Amino acid sequence: MTDSHDIKDSSKQQCSCSDSSVYFSEMAERSAKGVAWQQALQRLKDGNRRYVNKSSHNNSSCEYTRQLLCKGQWPYATVLCCSDSRVSPEIVFDAGLGDLFIVRVAGNIIDSRLLGSIEYATLHSTSKLIVVMGHGSCGAVTAATHAVSNPDVTDTPGINGIVSDLMPAVLKAKKHTGLEGCELIEAAARENVRMSCNLIRETSEPLADMENAGDIKIIGAYKHLTSDEVEFFD
Ligand SMILES: [Zn+2]
Repeated sequence: MTDSHDIKDSSKQQCSCSDSSVYFSEMAERSAKGVAWQQALQRLKDGNRRYVNKSSHNNSSCEYTRQLLCKGQWPYATVLCCSDSRVSPEIVFDAGLGDLFIVRVAGNIIDSRLLGSIEYATLHSTSKLIVVMGHGSCGAVTAATHAVSNPDVTDTPGINGIVSDLMPAVLKAKKHTGLEGCELIEAAARENVRMSCNLIRETSEPLADMENAGDIKIIGAYKHLTSDEVEFFD
C-alpha cells in the first residue's frame, strides 16, 4: 500500500510559476528519500513564523504543482490535530498542497484508525516527523474538563466517546497542577498532547523503533489561539 511513486523520471511540464523547477527538484528528492525530521521541523517553525508575521506564501495555486501531485504524494510531515476550524495546519504552517499529511479529530485523541493513518504516512509514504498539536480554547478539552466536575451531564454517544478519551488527561493535569477553570483547560490540553505522543509510541512498535533509531521524531505542539504561534514541546 503506497502512493509515494518515484518521480525522478517524470518529464517536467511547462508552468508560468517562476519556482516550478525548484518545486520539481524538491518533490523528486522527497520521493527518493523523504525529508529528515530535523529539516521538516524547521520548515514547520519557519512556516508558522511567516503566518504569524502575515507573510504567508505557498505553492497550492501553481498549476504545475497540481499536475505533479496527480502522480503521487510526498508529504514531509504528519500532523495530528483537533478538528477545530481555527487550527488548520496547512494555514498555520504556511504549507502547500502535498506538504502535510493531516489526521484530524476533535481533541486530537488517538485510536486504532487514527494511529493507522499516522503509520501509513510514515511507513508507506515519506513523512518522518509526527506532530501532535493541541490548541488554546479547545472545545473538546473544555467539555472533558466540565465532565470531570459534572459526571452526570452527558451528550450523544459519539461526543461522550471523545470526552471519555480526554478525561484521563484532565484528571492527570488536575492532580499534578491543582489548577481550575481556564488554566486547568490549558494544562489538560497540553497533557493530552503529551499522552497522545506517548500512546503512539506505546501502541505502534514500528514507529517507536524508528524513533529510537533516530529515523523519525514524534513531537508535541500547542497552538496559541491569540498569537497564532505554535509552541513545540521538545
Ligand atoms: Zn480543539
